[in-house]
Amino acid sequence: MSHPDVMDKLVSLCKRRGFIFQSSEIYGGTGSVWDYGPLGVELKKNLKDRWWWAMVRSRDDIEGIDAAILMHPRVWEASGHVAGFVDPLVDCRTCKGRFRADKLEDAQCPQKPSKHPGEHTACQLTDARQFNLMFRTFMGPLEETASVVYLRPETAQGIFVNFLNVQQSSRQKVPFGIAQIGKAFRNEITPGNFIFRTREFEQMEMQFFVEPGTDAEHFEYWKDARMKWHHAIGLSPDRLRYKAHEQLAHYARAAFDIEFDFGGTLGFQEIEGIHNRSDYDLSRHQEYSGKKLEYFDQPRNKRYVPFVIETSVGADRVTLAALVNAYREEEVAGEEEGRTVLGFHPSIAPIKAAVFALTKKDGMPEMAHRIANDLRPHFPVDYDETGSIGKRYRRQDEVGTPYCITVDGDSVKDGTVTVRDRDTLKQDRIAADALSGYLRERLQG
Ligand code: ATP
Repeated sequence: MSHPDVMDKLVSLCKRRGFIFQSSEIYGGTGSVWDYGPLGVELKKNLKDRWWWAMVRSRDDIEGIDAAILMHPRVWEASGHVAGFVDPLVDCRTCKGRFRADKLEDAQCPQKPSKHPGEHTACQLTDARQFNLMFRTFMGPLEETASVVYLRPETAQGIFVNFLNVQQSSRQKVPFGIAQIGKAFRNEITPGNFIFRTREFEQMEMQFFVEPGTDAEHFEYWKDARMKWHHAIGLSPDRLRYKAHEQLAHYARAAFDIEFDFGGTLGFQEIEGIHNRSDYDLSRHQEYSGKKLEYFDQPRNKRYVPFVIETSVGADRVTLAALVNAYREEEVAGEEEGRTVLGFHPSIAPIKAAVFALTKKDGMPEMAHRIANDLRPHFPVDYDETGSIGKRYRRQDEVGTPYCITVDGDSVKDGTVTVRDRDTLKQDRIAADALSGYLRERLQG
C-alpha cells in the first residue's frame, strides 16, 4: 500500500468545512448522492473551468455544447444502452445485500468480521442476473411504455446527435472536436467510496472527429494531452498511470484509462477513459435515425463517416482525486499540535487568499476589510478576525488557501502587511498596494 487511506478523514473534513454534504441528510440521506457546499462547489467549478479552458477556449478546433439530459428514447437504442448497459447483479439471501458480481472485491459484506461478499460461510449469493443501469421515467402525464424516457447515463450521445449541427454552424473541418460538461445518471448497484461512484454525477467529455486512417495518431495525441492535464491541475505524477483495457468493445480500436492512486485498499482506479470508438456511434445514429451523418470534405470531394476519439473524465471523480492528492498531516516545528493541509494547486484552491486583522483594534480591521474588498473582484478571498492567528492559519491550511495576509500594528502606520505561504510557511513583508500583483504572479499557471 503506497499511499495511506485518507477517505474517512476526508469525508469528515469535507462535511465540517463545507466541501461536500450527504444529500437530504436531515432525512437520513439518499443512497450515494452528494451535495457540494460553499467550498466544494468552488473546487469542482475550478476543475471544470480548467478543463473547459484546456479543451474549448484555448483551442480553435473544439466547440462546446450543452445538450439536454432528456433525449429521444431511440438514442439509447442506437447507442446500445437499452440492450447492453448492464451490470451483473447478485443478491445475498442471508444479509439481503446486493452486489456487482464483477466487483465483489470492492464491496463489503455487512457481517463481521469485515470480509468481501461470498467469503463468510453464511453468505448465500444468488446467480448473477443482468441489471440495466439507466434511470427510467415518463415524459408527459401517462405512465405507459410509449412515454418512457431515460436520464442520460453519459453525456456523449448529446454530442453525436449534434455532430452535423455543430459542424455546419461552426464551419469546422475534420479533424475537430465537440466538448461538453454535464450531469449523467447511473443506477449503480454498489455505489460508494464517497463521491468516487455515485448515482448522479458530472462528466466532462470530448469527442474528436477524424478521418478514418488517421485515428491512431489522434488517439496517441489525446492520450498524452489528457495525462498532461492531470499533471497541470496538480495531481502527483507518481499517483497517475495508464491502464490498457484488457477487453475491447467490438467497435473499439483502442482504449486506455488514466488511473489515480486513491491510497488504501481502493488503490489505483479509473478517473478518465480515452477511447478510439471507430465510426460506431455516428453509423448507428445514421442507421436508427435514417439521417446521413457524413462529413463532406469539399476540396477532395470525398464523403465519409468520421472516426471518433473520445476523452471522458468524471468531474466528481477528479474532484475526489484532487482532495486525496492534496490531503496531508504535518508536524509543525515548535508547536505541539500538527496541522492538516489541503495542498491544492493554487489554480484549483477554492479560496486564494485570506485576510486577517491581528487584533480587532487600532484601525486593523478597517484596513484588513479594505484589502479584502480590493482583492475580491480579482480573487476569491476570505476575511477572518476570530481566534488566535495560529488558529486562523490552521483553518485556512485545512481548506487549502495558498496565501494568508495579516494586517498588524505596523501595517496601519507604514502600509505593509505579511503574506504567509501555505506550503513553505515563509512570510514576506510587502506593501499592501503590491498585493494584487504579488498574488497574481504566484497564483497563475
Ligand atoms: P466504471 O468501470 O468505474 O463503472 P466506466 O468505465 O463505466 O466506469 P465510463 O463510462 O468510461 O466509466 O465513464 C467515464 C468517466 O465517468 C469515468 O472515468 C469516471 O470518471 C466517470 N464516472 C463513471 N461512472 C461514474 C459514477 N457512477 N460516479 C462518478 N463518476 C463516474
